[in-house]
Amino acid sequence: MLKEIGSGAWIVDSGAPGSRVCLSFGVHGNERAPIDAGKRLVERFECGELSLTSGSVLFVFANPRAAEENQRWSDGGVDLNRCFHASVLAREPALHEEKRAHEIIRFLESFEPEVLVDFHCTVEPGDRFMIHHPCADDPAHAQVTALLEAGVILADPELRFGGVSLDEWMSTRGRVGICYETGWMGDPANTPEAVYAEMVNVLAGSGMLDGREGNSYPEKRRLELFSAVTCDGKDFIWDPGIGENLQPLAAGTRLGAYGDEREVVIGEDATLVFPKKRPELVERGKPLVLLARETNGGSGSQ
Ligand SMILES: [Zn+2]
Repeated sequence: MLKEIGSGAWIVDSGAPGSRVCLSFGVHGNERAPIDAGKRLVERFECGELSLTSGSVLFVFANPRAAEENQRWSDGGVDLNRCFHASVLAREPALHEEKRAHEIIRFLESFEPEVLVDFHCTVEPGDRFMIHHPCADDPAHAQVTALLEAGVILADPELRFGGVSLDEWMSTRGRVGICYETGWMGDPANTPEAVYAEMVNVLAGSGMLDGREGNSYPEKRRLELFSAVTCDGKDFIWDPGIGENLQPLAAGTRLGAYGDEREVVIGEDATLVFPKKRPELVERGKPLVLLARETNGGSGSQ
């Protein structure tokens, strides 16, 4: 039975013991495939086409207002996925997204999920991947990431992203929190059907769905963020062919140069993460790109 517990929040409870899972979507309102997939999943539980055999699920449609406007965040608002830091949650919320972050935390605090998977898609072209804060072979996270098809895990053990996102709110409290980038929003393969199947697989693989078994994808490329290249000049230009997300580069590779011809070269082998390719996103004192390296890990899934 599906029960609406607040705006954009629903619980399905099997009544039997089992996992407590939260699936969230639409933190960014223009990420259509996860939004349509999540809404479809809620509808199928509502009409009884899907049912749980164990445990319970909380669904969160995080930012319906931004989704209605088909914008990343609502008019005059801010990025909701920067509103889950303790310092933001501690102050009186003023903007829509700040208020919404408080509401979402209330849903999480009352439901107490053990696992949260937050479904996104990317603005820039690239393959799907997942991000989480604990190290790349953290066993509790690996159980869940094995249920997601993407072949790349990007871990952020030093919280370089800042502990600001919904998945980090979970993982900094000792629970499983995963941000799943389901692919590029312009990729014809990034469909609601594809994302829906992945959402269902999380529940099936957790043994919660009647008559379904989950698929497992334990083989992953495991990366950990270890550094950043900070912008300290003006008019940075990337070299041709350099600056793709998850692009591996050898030590000594030139990334590009500032307007005064000062070069930026990486000092060690690294994989680029979230390069700021668009000049309007480059900000002095902020990362030009984050750097990750492959981890050999010690998990049993290798
Ligand atoms: Zn997003």
